[in-house]
Amino acid sequence: MSDIRVGNGVDVHPLVSGIPLHLACLEWPEETKGCAGHSNGDVAAHATCDAILAAAGLGDLGSVFGTSDPKWAGASGEALLLEVNRVISEAGWRIINVSVQVIANSPKIGPRREQAQAAMSKALSGAPVSVAGTTSDGLGLTGRGEGVAALACALLERTPDR
Ligand code: MG
Repeated sequence: MSDIRVGNGVDVHPLVSGIPLHLACLEWPEETKGCAGHSNGDVAAHATCDAILAAAGLGDLGSVFGTSDPKWAGASGEALLLEVNRVISEAGWRIINVSVQVIANSPKIGPRREQAQAAMSKALSGAPVSVAGTTSDGLGLTGRGEGVAALACALLERTPDR
């Protein structure tokens, strides 16, 4: 049986005026709205965490962190990725790579793509992370600027000694 597994993750957070935008483990100071949530609202990090946990068969963000645990209030995307990486490593899994796509009118990912990829990769023991962006052409909640969405895919393998 194959020891390589794929997992998917999706996340959406509402955009709110007057709070900083945290996305893909970066802050985007030019944005006037940020993502509200129990943590810092980093949808790219959250979708990635869910994809990694799904690939390892270890549930989802809610089952690892709880949706209201005060310990994780305001938690950064980096902190969640570090913890998810710790959890799956302990369970005998290693990340081969991650691909995450942000769906939003702004910010544009391209100019800071490498920075975002490096920041997310650093939180995942250096595993390669691809960060992409797209819009929904003015349609739906992301098109109306009501929120930011992200989709992620993660590929994991069993660590050799298992
Ligand atoms: Mg979330």
